[in-house]
Amino acid sequence: MKILVLNCGSASVKWGLYTDGKSVDGGLIERVTDCSQAVREVLFTADVSDVDAVGHRVVHGGLRFTAPTLIDDAVLESITRLVPLAPLHNPVNLAGIKIAREMLPGVPQVAVFDTAFHRTIPPAQAMYAIDVEVAQENGIARYGFHGTSHEYVSHRTAELLGRDPAQTNVITLHLGNGASACAVRAGRSSATSMGLTPLEGLVMGSRSGNVDPAVVFHLHRVAGMSFDAIDDLLNQRSGLKGLCGDNDMREVLRRREEGDEAAALAFDVYCDRIKMYVGAYYALLGRVDAITFTAGVGENAAPVREASLSGLEALGIVVDPARNTAAERGERIISPDGASPVVCVVPTDEELEIANQTAELLAR
Ligand code: AMP
Repeated sequence: MKILVLNCGSASVKWGLYTDGKSVDGGLIERVTDCSQAVREVLFTADVSDVDAVGHRVVHGGLRFTAPTLIDDAVLESITRLVPLAPLHNPVNLAGIKIAREMLPGVPQVAVFDTAFHRTIPPAQAMYAIDVEVAQENGIARYGFHGTSHEYVSHRTAELLGRDPAQTNVITLHLGNGASACAVRAGRSSATSMGLTPLEGLVMGSRSGNVDPAVVFHLHRVAGMSFDAIDDLLNQRSGLKGLCGDNDMREVLRRREEGDEAAALAFDVYCDRIKMYVGAYYALLGRVDAITFTAGVGENAAPVREASLSGLEALGIVVDPARNTAAERGERIISPDGASPVVCVVPTDEELEIANQTAELLAR
């Protein structure tokens, strides 16, 4: 089966062609201002003559979409209704879908949602402790994101350990530009750090992650900031960038090495937050078989892996310094032999997972 995968982001379009689960072509268009135009470009570049289906990444599937879904007009309408919950992402995802439908008429289009993997999260984790009626009326709930990555990485981790995913508990740490943690119990998401939007949880490149919600009221009432300005502050001018001026972990690490105090503090805030989620998810899961790092920072930044799991020996969590800093790139174990939980690095591949889920849906 030949599948085209389209991942339309707010500023880039990633694409890939897969034949029987193997990548045969792909690319990345950056600094995109018009997603439709970028997708048109992809469809002219890629050999899409005999594709069996197109798999689209869609960020927000609300509570309704729990699995990959064949796209028809009604599904498009539902994704459109979710735009207020993902104003930066769902519109570009929709634009990509519309162009692909237009240019490849008759080819099945499948939506693979970032939120879908998290629909197994139990109510005790999915609900915020606010008035239930207000929450229900307004769709206020923890939806979770990066689901495709958490699913792929947790299942690859089980395979790396020679275990059945359905019998394996994993804490996955997706540390990229955006960052989130997930407690995967027996192959299913049971808790995750992102919530109503991708702002909650871990410290990110330019997003704050958790803050006291009263920070928003305070900045509005006392500092006179508008809600748009606060939104911009927490999403674009916070996280590593807010703390030290750089949102790229490579820069933060370099400056920290040179003795820069702001960079060192940003690093500490970032790693402490990860450690707190590891502890919390250890407690929720009860038994943890593996802890897995993935995405740009998780796959490449050995100092982050080391610091965020330091001092957890009492929980059995140990990182082997030589394994952690080895120049290896692929899926690997970085804890000492025999340690439990096993600490791993597994490169994420959201496009491959989207291709596989698309093919699986069509084969049904
Ligand atoms: P992603 O969103 O998964 O593409 O991750 C992007 C982020 O990963 C970048 O903004 C960097 O902060 C980080 N990153 C990429 N390569 C490295 C590296 N070699 N060392 C540390 N951080 C890295």
